[in-house]
Amino acid sequence: MTPEAHQHKGAPEPRRIVMRKSPHPAHRRWVPFLLIGVAVVLAMAAYGAYVWVPVWFHLPVSVTVNSRPYKVDSGTKIHTFLDDTFGLASYQGKLKVDTGQVLDPRGGKPAVITVDGHPLHSGERIRFGGNAIKLARGADVIHPTAQKSVAIAPKVSLQGGNGRLISLLRAGRPGTVLETIDTVTGKVLSSKEATSAIDTRLQAFTTTGIKARAVALTFDDGPNDGETQAIVATLKKENVKATFFELGINIKRYPALTRAVVSGGNLVGLHSWDHKDFTKLSTSQISGQLSDSQAAYKAATGQATQWFRLPYGASTLTIDGQLTSRNFRLAYWTVDPNDWRRPGVDKIVSRVVSGARPGAIILMHDGGGDRSQTVAALPKIIAALKKQGYTFVTVDELYRLSGGK
Ligand SMILES: [Zn+2]
Repeated sequence: MTPEAHQHKGAPEPRRIVMRKSPHPAHRRWVPFLLIGVAVVLAMAAYGAYVWVPVWFHLPVSVTVNSRPYKVDSGTKIHTFLDDTFGLASYQGKLKVDTGQVLDPRGGKPAVITVDGHPLHSGERIRFGGNAIKLARGADVIHPTAQKSVAIAPKVSLQGGNGRLISLLRAGRPGTVLETIDTVTGKVLSSKEATSAIDTRLQAFTTTGIKARAVALTFDDGPNDGETQAIVATLKKENVKATFFELGINIKRYPALTRAVVSGGNLVGLHSWDHKDFTKLSTSQISGQLSDSQAAYKAATGQATQWFRLPYGASTLTIDGQLTSRNFRLAYWTVDPNDWRRPGVDKIVSRVVSGARPGAIILMHDGGGDRSQTVAALPKIIAALKKQGYTFVTVDELYRLSGGK
């Protein structure tokens, strides 16, 4: 009786289970699996040895490249084998443009290498069983081209040497060049002239060669409230004409002063919009300076002027060409008393009078600061020059006296 049977009287006696010993102990049942495992490991080792021992010992095998057989040591890097045998650089595609021009014979995609149906792995080696390799030329890289028409500025030439009045002799014309551009790199591949440029030719007039005992008084940087009226009044009183090179910004501010200068019989030329150094401006900025100052002059007087003096006298042949091609005549100067530095009335007078000779162009200022010394010097200058037999002309009159038309 089991202790359980005591507690449950009347319950049927549990069936006794008799454990009988198996004829094969449990550990013996794993033996076949163990043997299979060992066999597999041995087979793998054998296969590994079969594959890798020849590789380690570089035993030669046969491979095909594009179906042609080659003998090569197993274990050799496939890339090295191909490069040594075929020169992979020569299988590189070309870099071309769509016109057919070759930019770089080896600038295209690299050679396409396939090993046993897959793309060559980096560092992949020839295996002992050999490989079937396919080697093909890399694709060409083709850049599209575009044609671009580029304007070539006309050259500017000047005849007449160092003459201080300059006008246009013949208007030039820009030429055009047709450029073929690689649209990817922006490089100009070729260019050919489509239309040739015609040079701009300028004529300088040497005023100091004239026979007439005439000088041109010129006043820059105005109009300026106070000094301009005083100078115009002196000129009127002395029955003398002068030339005023005015700034557009000042004409706009004092249009009545510009009108007073003109109605006094004087000539007004332009001196830029706001006294910028034109050698530091772009072509279009210069164009704006010309248009704006001319517009201010037209608004004040109802007419256009043909005369221009560059701020600081700073220019280049190209700038002279641009200005004269806009129908301006250019007036530089021959005598500079530096009146704007206010050296004293007597200094201004003596410098002008000693510099005067037939055809002289005298630079003074009615604007740009306190010009009371210039105002005070003017009657003395006129008196001294009149005494020497000089007459006073505008730069336009001097231009005609010098042969200008
Ligand atoms: Zn100036």
